[in-house]
Amino acid sequence: MPDEWIRQWGDPTLRELAVPVARVDDLLRRQVERMRRALVAADGAGLAATQVGLLRRLFVYRVERDGPVEVLVNPRVVARSEEIELFAEGCLSYLAVTVAVERPSAVRIIGEDVEGRAVTIEAEGFEASLLQHEIDHLDGILTLDRAEPAERRRAIAALLAPRAAAA
Ligand code: ZN
Repeated sequence: MPDEWIRQWGDPTLRELAVPVARVDDLLRRQVERMRRALVAADGAGLAATQVGLLRRLFVYRVERDGPVEVLVNPRVVARSEEIELFAEGCLSYLAVTVAVERPSAVRIIGEDVEGRAVTIEAEGFEASLLQHEIDHLDGILTLDRAEPAERRRAIAALLAPRAAAA
């Protein structure tokens, strides 16, 4: 189950623009540790700081389900393939639906680790989709914004359905 700490669809924080991290201090490092634990507890693949109400440009992620949880600070896509790939993407901020999103199938991403060291990642397939999804969160963009109109309508209807039933 997701941590209550993880903001859910409809929370305006998910639409905010996160600001670059000048330095990872002890407070931020503790928050990153908490994000790692929340990601694992939720059985997720990625969790952006924005999703826990922390408007800083960083996220935690893991490419394999039981693999190590990585941290990427100040990530930026610097190259994209022309080839596009469609993935059904889940999100810890709205577990009820997956949304089909087209994105470049390969990307080069630069950023920093928690010690401030420069990192370059060449990602493709699922990893490329995941990293682009998390970077989108830092810009207040959700998969729903990237979906085709019919797909977006279907997903939003599914998200609203339990609320309507409860009303
Ligand atoms: Zn997400």
